[in-house]
Amino acid sequence: MRERAVVREVGLRDGLQSLKEMMPTEAKIGWLEAEYAAGVREIEVSSFVPPRLLPQLADAESVVRYAQGLKGLNLSVLIPNLKGAERGFALGVSAMNFVLSVSDGHNRANVRRSTEESVEELRHVVARCRAQPPDRRPRVACVLATAFGCAIEGEVPEDRVRRIALEAAEAGAGEIVLADTVGYGNPAAVKRLFRRVMADVAPVPVCAHFHDTRGLGLANVLAALDAGARAFDASLCGLGGCPYAPAATGNIVTEDLVFMLEAMGFETGIDLERLLEVRKILAANLPGVPLMGAVAKAGIPKNFPARRSARAAA
Ligand code: ZN
Repeated sequence: MRERAVVREVGLRDGLQSLKEMMPTEAKIGWLEAEYAAGVREIEVSSFVPPRLLPQLADAESVVRYAQGLKGLNLSVLIPNLKGAERGFALGVSAMNFVLSVSDGHNRANVRRSTEESVEELRHVVARCRAQPPDRRPRVACVLATAFGCAIEGEVPEDRVRRIALEAAEAGAGEIVLADTVGYGNPAAVKRLFRRVMADVAPVPVCAHFHDTRGLGLANVLAALDAGARAFDASLCGLGGCPYAPAATGNIVTEDLVFMLEAMGFETGIDLERLLEVRKILAANLPGVPLMGAVAKAGIPKNFPARRSARAAA
C-alpha cells in the first residue's frame, strides 16, 4: 500500500483571480469536469468575495452548483468573512476556506481589518457553521496567507504565525493551511514552521499552499513532506500570479506536483496523462496567458511508476 498524498486544485480560484482575462463559466465547468475525470477529488472551485472586487469569479454560485453534482468531489470555496460564509450556507457548500493574512498590513490591504479582527470573524463563522443543520454543516479550514513573508511588511515572525495558527485551531478550524502567498519561503523555513505548527495544533491537519514565484515551489513541497504534511494546493499550468510582482509565476504546477509525488511513491489517485490533457482547455480559453509546467514540456518519462498503476486501477 502506497501512502496517500492529497493534491488540491486551486487554479479555478487562486489562478483565475489574479488574471485580468475572464474565463467563461462554460470553460470553468469544462476544466472542473476534466480534472474530476482525471481523478482530482479536492478542488477549490471559487471564492465568495464581492463580485465587484473579483469580476473573474462573479459566477461562483453557478460553478459551485455544477461541482456539487460531481459525486465524491470534495469541493471547497474561499471565504474572506461571514458574508462569504452566508453565500456558502445558502448553497449548502460542504467546505469553506476562510482566509486571513498573518501579516497585519497584508490583511488590512485585503479585507480592511487587523489579523486579530479576522480571527474574531473566523470565530463567528465557525459558530454560524455549527448552527447549521448537521447535513448542511460545512467544514471550515483556515488559510494563513503570508505565513512565510509579506510583500508589504517583509519579515513575518514565526512566533506570530504559530500564535495565529493556534488561535485559528482553537477557534474551530478543522484544518490549517500555511500559505506562501508571495513566494518568500524557502525549504529550511518551511520545514521548521511546518514541524512547529503541526505540533502546536495537532491533531488538526496542516496543509501547504506554495507559489513558485522564485522557483522554490517544489523544493518547499519536499520540505513540507519531510515535516509530515500530506496535502498540497496547486494550480493547473501554474496559473495565477502575484499582484506585487506582475511578471511573476503563480502557484506550483498541479501536473508537476502530481509527477513528483507519484514518482516518489505517493498515491494521489490522479492520472497524470489525463491531467496533462486538461491543459488544452486552458490553452483554448486563456489565449496569451503563459502556461507553466516542466512535465508538459518534457513529457512523462518511461520509468514513471503511476503509468502502470493508473491503468491497472481503471
Ligand atoms: Zn495563493
